[in-house]
Amino acid sequence: MSEDKACPIALVDMDNSIAKYEESLLKDLDKLRSPNEPINWEYHTEPDYIRARMDLIRLSSTWWENLPPITRGLEIVNIMRSMGFRIVICTQGPRKNAAAWQGKMLWVQKNLPDDTDIIITRDKGLIYGNVLMDDFPDYITNWLKHRPRGLVIMPAHHYNKDFSHSNVIRDDGSPEATEKIKDGLNKIILKDKDAEKVNDVHGCHNYLRDLKNDRVFRTDCGKGILKNPIMPITYHL
Ligand SMILES: [Mg+2]
Repeated sequence: MSEDKACPIALVDMDNSIAKYEESLLKDLDKLRSPNEPINWEYHTEPDYIRARMDLIRLSSTWWENLPPITRGLEIVNIMRSMGFRIVICTQGPRKNAAAWQGKMLWVQKNLPDDTDIIITRDKGLIYGNVLMDDFPDYITNWLKHRPRGLVIMPAHHYNKDFSHSNVIRDDGSPEATEKIKDGLNKIILKDKDAEKVNDVHGCHNYLRDLKNDRVFRTDCGKGILKNPIMPITYHL
């Protein structure tokens, strides 16, 4: 991955996107259950004593560091990297748990290449990027507020099944989702270049695609001089 500042930026969430947070938390919570203790609560609406156990688990830097990676999430990260995106991990850090921050840093060092940047924030809406990969609808909505043309890749989970947005690709791991993701990323790369040479459908002329102004220009044959504009047509990718 290049550290070229001109590279398009992919912001990548950790928990439940590339690291098995929820699954690990519930599994380790179960180890703290007494033999006959019933499970009469639901995740996110758990009683205080269960929340206290969760906090105990999350106090360990080692717990965060050793969260198993999500294979599909890392696959998408590799696709973005191979297409030239600069990978920046963008993860929320518990406000009063420095061990979690340390564990997240160590996780990144263990599971991703050395040149991977990491931002730990309480507000992802503040962070610039061309694409965000995140599973949590509230963070997605907040980020899109500041990046109305940004692309979001949302790993599919039960809690985000009802969330949809025109900028969001829900990644259910299918080949169709992979194609949609590649297509969306490709559009970002083309837009990033501002103008991309395209072939005339009749094979007669050369065109430049000016995506900023959403138009296609025909160039002079052989001279590459832009005429201004010969074909002010809309040419969507
Ligand atoms: Mg997450």
